[in-house]
Amino acid sequence: MEPLYAGVDLGGTTVACALADARGQIVQEAKTDTQSHAGPDAVLERIANLVKELAQAAGVPPTAVGMGVPGLVDVDSGVVRFLPNLPTNWRDVPAGQRLSEKLGCPVWLLNDVRTATLGELAFGHGANVGTMAFFALGTGIGGGIVVDGELRLGPLGAAGELGHQTILPDGPLCGCGNRGCLETLASGPALTAEGVRLLHSGLAPRLHELVEGDAGRITPKQMAAAAGDGDDAVLEAIRRVAEYLAIGVANVVVAIHPELIVFGGGVAQMGDLLLDRVRQAVQRRVNMIPTDDLRIELSLVGNRAGVLGAVALAARRSAAS
Ligand SMILES: [Zn+2]
Repeated sequence: MEPLYAGVDLGGTTVACALADARGQIVQEAKTDTQSHAGPDAVLERIANLVKELAQAAGVPPTAVGMGVPGLVDVDSGVVRFLPNLPTNWRDVPAGQRLSEKLGCPVWLLNDVRTATLGELAFGHGANVGTMAFFALGTGIGGGIVVDGELRLGPLGAAGELGHQTILPDGPLCGCGNRGCLETLASGPALTAEGVRLLHSGLAPRLHELVEGDAGRITPKQMAAAAGDGDDAVLEAIRRVAEYLAIGVANVVVAIHPELIVFGGGVAQMGDLLLDRVRQAVQRRVNMIPTDDLRIELSLVGNRAGVLGAVALAARRSAAS
């Protein structure tokens, strides 16, 4: 029987888990609430139980486990250093070792967006690509960089924080302490905040109809629909986000000359309305490197990037050890 690997995506509200083979064929998958308020020990116990349930259903224990975590982790030791969005921040929690003891197999940890990058590299658009960058456009903007087939981690696993490159010198204050980071200009909240403003200003009648006047229901996808339906001010807001994103992409392109740029996350759900504008702006801005063959695509593995990346992490680390 072919070995199976468990991939876990630890989020602030949800834990997703998949059991798959080394080619990314999923045989079992499930999600559960993180219940992060209960603290690291209880959360790790829930994760271990979820993996055990899937293994029982598949009739095969996992050969190894990979897990993406939303923050900083010591990749070699599996010790979580800092999860900014979880209660207690999980400072210096030996999560890898504890899970390994509960499950009786090796456990490998990595930052969640670097893990998603690995998912796209192994099982998505990156399958035959040497050098690529992944932008996760969600509540924040995360990223990952692959150079010559290798995920670039750096000594702290922190390489690839593409959302925290400066785009506007005196722009909005970012959670990281800098001003004008890409994240402050092109994340989901940055875009929908502009949608809320336009709605309240009476400048987005179609958007107003779509969300029935409820500003709390505005999403990037609905803004795209409103823009396509005649809300010019909303289209202008999307065009501006595309321009900021294109600057971020262009910076990466001249730094690493990738074959592929992949967008994931809620903002990317706007599809070609966003992507075509980014493609055009990148072509316009990058002149030192030929961009005719550069592909800028929506993630192929989509919302499974996290769990599939964790499966790839487990499979690759097992093969290497
Ligand atoms: Zn920042």
